[in-house]
Amino acid sequence: MSETKTDNTQIALVTGASRGIGKAIAKALAKTDRFVYLNFNLNREKADTTLKEIISSGGNGALLQFDVTNQEESEKAIEKIIKEQGKIDILVNNAGIRDDKLMVRMKKTNWQTVLDTNLTGFFNVTRLVVKNMLPKRFGRIINISSTSGQIGQAGQVNYSASKAGLIGATKALSREIAKRNITVNSVAPGFIETEMIKGLSLEKIADTIPAGRLGKPEEVAATVLFLCSKDAGYITGQVIGINGGIL
Ligand code: NDP
Repeated sequence: MSETKTDNTQIALVTGASRGIGKAIAKALAKTDRFVYLNFNLNREKADTTLKEIISSGGNGALLQFDVTNQEESEKAIEKIIKEQGKIDILVNNAGIRDDKLMVRMKKTNWQTVLDTNLTGFFNVTRLVVKNMLPKRFGRIINISSTSGQIGQAGQVNYSASKAGLIGATKALSREIAKRNITVNSVAPGFIETEMIKGLSLEKIADTIPAGRLGKPEEVAATVLFLCSKDAGYITGQVIGINGGIL
């Protein structure tokens, strides 16, 4: 962890920051002088590489392993940040998984693990963070949803449900805390080039996207970065699509 943090440095937590979209978001936040806690679950090596890349380009941060499906682990991790920094200014709920199957073939475990990670993970991480943000009268919370949660995707009844749930939670929470200068928004990416979509026929998919290509993690990160800014203070309860025009 860096020694150069000053009192007015913003503190950010990005869940699932070891790779993909979370990695790009963590790097964008660190590049703009935030101290970033990089959460990961299993992939310490990739998380460590992300942190090294951040530090070598002049940014600051620390690794924070926890499983977002585990409430006790998640809350202990939040308490650790509060103990170390006294606050969390920015929370990006990005950790997520997919486990696609047609509904008729879906087992309860395929349903439950996706809901536990993508939706209950939001609850496990966000509750204590909000509690800490309220008296500080500042906060930015961004939940990474998906186009799949907006339109529904065949083979993703579990995933679409989790991501639609996240949009509902975003809207409800935004109303609870807007007066305290805490904004809560969702971004809903379409198809973004990460490990999550490995194995899909990407060329065929690109043909269905008006922009004619998949998105890049950095393109999602740019919107998240804006939502974290002072200029975005009047944007709350919104869902911003980053999808090349598919919706
Ligand atoms: P990746 O599969 O590349 O990365 C997933 C990240 O989530 C990893 O850092 C992983 O950590 C972390 N993670 C998974 N489960 C847990 C857990 N239980 N606790 C903590 N961390 C966990 O996915 P993407 O970067 O593509 O996706 C990021 C988010 O964006 C997800 O919410 C996804 O649903 C959403 N999204 C992605 C789209 C895409 O096309 N790629 C489209 C729309 C939305 P570890 O490495 O340790 O396993």
